[in-house]
Amino acid sequence: MTVDALSGVTSIRVLGVRVDDVDQSMAAERIMAMAAVGRPHQVVTLNPEFIVRARRDAAFAAVLEAADLALPDGVGIVWASYILGTPLHGRATGVQTVLDLAVSAGERGLSFYLLGAAPGVAEAAAARLVTHAPGLRIAGTFAGSPAPEVEDETVARIRQAAPDFLLVAYGAPQQDLWIARNKERLGVPVAIGVGGTFDYLSGRVAWPSPLWRRLGLEWLCRLLRQPWRWRRMLALPRFAFLVFASRLRGGPK
Ligand code: UDP
Repeated sequence: MTVDALSGVTSIRVLGVRVDDVDQSMAAERIMAMAAVGRPHQVVTLNPEFIVRARRDAAFAAVLEAADLALPDGVGIVWASYILGTPLHGRATGVQTVLDLAVSAGERGLSFYLLGAAPGVAEAAAARLVTHAPGLRIAGTFAGSPAPEVEDETVARIRQAAPDFLLVAYGAPQQDLWIARNKERLGVPVAIGVGGTFDYLSGRVAWPSPLWRRLGLEWLCRLLRQPWRWRRMLALPRFAFLVFASRLRGGPK
């Protein structure tokens, strides 16, 4: 384990990828603290698919390494931390972190911009967030596209809206690469890749019930509801195999 002297956050490595030991109780507070520092920050919400991808995608791995905060979103990351002998305190899911951050932002009159997901979904997610966190301002919503050809226009929209927090829902790795390419010119203190969070907040996809979540089986729930994801989810057994292999070789590699 290493301790970042500046922030006091402890990190571990899972198959070479840095994971910050920031659980749900601390995640929103950490992100809020970033907003007070005058430079752009990037937050990534890691799950096993990210880590498997990073092993064969050097550009994505570099973005994860450079992130200011790498949250353990997927339960598989916490499971791996135990297997590797470097246990994390717990998870910080994208959905709950966004809900908690909305409350803190609402108390301070700060604003969110919601970028990504299918047309109409970001608007519905924003409405849910404002109900959950009165006082939260929505600086804008835009489905847009992660395609590099249209990002100048998207960046111009966001710059004009000048939000405090930008949530990007293009799925990994596109959302995280998009933020890394554009963060210096966005003029936004904190940008977070949030994956399917808007789909859940909007109700477009049902969030797994507390029982599924407590059992750490959201991935199974998701596979049952969105069976077309099976090919992508082959990353999960691959991840488990790689974690055990790493453990047999003597720990985090
Ligand atoms: N998405 C998008 N444009 C794209 C690809 C994905 O807006 O070109 C959105 C998609 O609608 C969904 C979100 O990205 O709301 C996250 O997708 P997914 O659930 O696949 O991501 P994960 O949570 O697995 O990272």
